[in-house]
Amino acid sequence: MSKFKTFPSLWRWLEERGPKAPISAVDIALRRIEEYKDLNAFIDVWAEEARQLAEQLASEKKKKPLHGLIVGVKDNIAVAGKPLTAASKILQGYKSPFSATVVERIKKAGAILIGRNNCDEFAMGSGNEYSYYGPSRNPYNPALVPGGSSGGSAVAVATGQVMVALGSDTGGSVRQPAAYCGVIGYKPTYGLLSRYGLIAFASSLDQIGIIANNVEDIAAVMSVAAGKDPMDATSVPFKIPNFVEEIIDARQQKFKIGVIKETVEHKDLHPDVAAAMEKWISILSKKGHTLEYVSLPLLDYVVPMYQIIATAEASANLARYDGVRYGYRAEADSLEEMYIKTRTEGFGMEVKRRIMMGTFVLSSGFYDAYYMRALRARRLLVNYLNDLFKQYELLMLPTTPAPAFPIGSFTQRPVEMYLVDVFTVIANLAGIPAISLPLAWSKDGLPLGIQFMSKAFDDSKLLSFSASLFN
Ligand code: GLN
Repeated sequence: MSKFKTFPSLWRWLEERGPKAPISAVDIALRRIEEYKDLNAFIDVWAEEARQLAEQLASEKKKKPLHGLIVGVKDNIAVAGKPLTAASKILQGYKSPFSATVVERIKKAGAILIGRNNCDEFAMGSGNEYSYYGPSRNPYNPALVPGGSSGGSAVAVATGQVMVALGSDTGGSVRQPAAYCGVIGYKPTYGLLSRYGLIAFASSLDQIGIIANNVEDIAAVMSVAAGKDPMDATSVPFKIPNFVEEIIDARQQKFKIGVIKETVEHKDLHPDVAAAMEKWISILSKKGHTLEYVSLPLLDYVVPMYQIIATAEASANLARYDGVRYGYRAEADSLEEMYIKTRTEGFGMEVKRRIMMGTFVLSSGFYDAYYMRALRARRLLVNYLNDLFKQYELLMLPTTPAPAFPIGSFTQRPVEMYLVDVFTVIANLAGIPAISLPLAWSKDGLPLGIQFMSKAFDDSKLLSFSASLFN
């Protein structure tokens, strides 16, 4: 069980607290933000605006769908008029002139945005260590990482500083910190939530995701935020269900679940994670679900595929930070020198490493050998998963091979850090929805996540199933 006081689901909060619920929620959130400030979850707090909006909501007779939902926003998702830096020096001084579509939609529905959450620079990392604002820390042990890149968002949810936080998930950045912090992290199907206003890292993998303490809040956010957006050509004109009603209706349903054998037999799997998987396989069978082991032989290749595709896209996406258009500009005597100095001084080490790797795999001599092959392998993976989803409604696997690691463990060994993503990148490569549920604990009392994936656009099934596990 979580050792922190957190908010109940929004509807419960509103029921318990009556019309003044938004006001007391903001008060409590601000108090906890102060109390846990050493965990460095927030870069900015918008206290006054939050208080004013809460007063206004409390005076409204008709309740909005997200009436007073306290939300933290990762520092790579645009909020109009607010600084937006992707936790990078290169964007210091930049203020976004517009809001991300998801932000716009939840605000309209009554959400209260309370501040910007810390993260890894340009969402590149697995520990929230690579932030211009310093690392965020794991609430269960501040010497450990909270996970990354949406670490600040996960910490804020885990310690009840917010009800819900928005993160981004390119290779696991919502699910992995959720697992390390003992909260729920959900990455929707690619295209279900608009990416307009999300700072691009790897566009074919990026997806805004939601971190929360309960599935009801995630469903509430999805019901207002999902759906086609003319500003994002990859958003899909999918008929958005009322996720809130669906998760209530479908709770009794029994599912056919494939457990990915290669993940439970993985050489880096921590014994506590293995034990947690075993325990939940048996609990789920007892609950009447059908579980069978399935094989995903491509597992050894998913991190290389991800690293090639993600860095290739990142090297192109990050070309725009040249000191001319956004944020930081270095002093220089010529234009070329200005470009070089701005990027040299503005980007951190991990971001530079990714840009170099991406530029390399896209270079004319190596394009066929790396980038094209990674794309082909990605197609094989998608085909393989599609076949599995013909037989199984859900796939089950751990979220991470092990619990949270100490801050600084991988600084000199970046490739080992990339391997931590082995179970999460699968869903991004395939564009399918995935959720990490805080179902277990290590022997040392650290949270562990168990992950479920479904086929594309079966999000409401995935959420219904998840909700059923918390009753
Ligand atoms: N940890 C992964 C990486 O470093 C995932 C990042 C993400 O999902 N934004 O690339």
